[in-house]
Amino acid sequence: MPKIAVFPGDGIGPEVIRETLKVLKRVGELVSVDFEFEEELLGGASIDAHGVPMTERAMSLAEEADAVLLGAVGGPKWDDLPFEVRPERALLGLRKNLNLFANLRPAKIFAPLVDASTLKREVIEGVDIMVVRELTGGIYFGEPRGVRVEDGEEVGVNTLVYKRHEIERVARVAFDIARKRRKKVTSVDKSNVLESTELWRKVVTEVGKEYGDVELNHLLVDNCAMQLVRYPRQFDVIVTTNLFGDILSDEAAMITGSIGMLPSASLGGETGLYEPVHGSAPDIAGKNMANPLATILSAAMMLRYSFSLDAAADAVEESVERVLEKGYRTADIASEGTRKVSCSEMGDLVVNELNEILE
Ligand code: NAD
Repeated sequence: MPKIAVFPGDGIGPEVIRETLKVLKRVGELVSVDFEFEEELLGGASIDAHGVPMTERAMSLAEEADAVLLGAVGGPKWDDLPFEVRPERALLGLRKNLNLFANLRPAKIFAPLVDASTLKREVIEGVDIMVVRELTGGIYFGEPRGVRVEDGEEVGVNTLVYKRHEIERVARVAFDIARKRRKKVTSVDKSNVLESTELWRKVVTEVGKEYGDVELNHLLVDNCAMQLVRYPRQFDVIVTTNLFGDILSDEAAMITGSIGMLPSASLGGETGLYEPVHGSAPDIAGKNMANPLATILSAAMMLRYSFSLDAAADAVEESVERVLEKGYRTADIASEGTRKVSCSEMGDLVVNELNEILE
């Protein structure tokens, strides 16, 4: 029985998770998989109840589960707490303990939302990119680091370090994903200037030789940033370092439109973590107006990457596309001539389409 740990979190988290659970439960019934869900508090909600952003019980629930589904954490109520006990600490703890070294951020344009992009229709139509960002190494973690005084002047230092095994394992994630998609990997580095990314290029090339059916090309990060807005359709899977991935995944995601539509997955150890890119949106929390599609699409990634239920994942994505095609929109993506619906209505609409597709 696949076990899913569910952390609704704060703000709109519980609202978008409720709709996503409706969808996952219906998928389970339709494809005869008996998902087991267990829910726990996380972030601010856990601070209020237990005094810590994540209890040991919540952490073991995550570690013992096959996959984790997360809403969002944080909010103004907890903003003044010291960093060590802030809601966001729960996310760092989860990523570390679950050894999540690869972050997957798709940038897929849904045909009915083409006009929400800031790019021209002919540039953006058909874009479907997966950015795989290395998440636990690189300049964000390298030593030495810090600010010190040298010869009477302040000096800020960070260090870009990659070990061979860190590059190999994230490259394998990228190539495996490409095999499930259009079989093309673009590795992004700055190997003309940075030796550690010269190693990156060498190791990715070596791993690529194990995947003869996947095409590999290399781009320098500055060129990749340009190509993403010039001709994004050329990309299938992009694999890159922590720092470059942080920037490029936001760039790639934004060319497709709204924050309420962006899912993500983090993979590494036995348990994958799935969550929307957006935060807890305190400005609209409790009003049943959040867009649940980012979280529903994260659940589709869970079906694909944690449970290899590719047909079910396709069905969820297709349901979202159909609902949008019929003109239904939550407030954040509504435009003239579309039908505005609430968060819970959006969840119901996706379930209706699922019934049509899978029954
Ligand atoms: P945010 O993503 O919560 O909100 C930014 C804007 O986008 C807001 O106007 C919000 O209403 C809107 N928005 C976001 N998601 C939406 C959705 N699903 N439907 C409709 N509109 C949506 O970012 P923020 O305001 O910078 O942060 C709010 C809180 O969330 C902070 O406490 C921050 O630390 C936290 N946060 C958490 C995560 C996480 O849990 N992974 C990520 C980012 C921010």
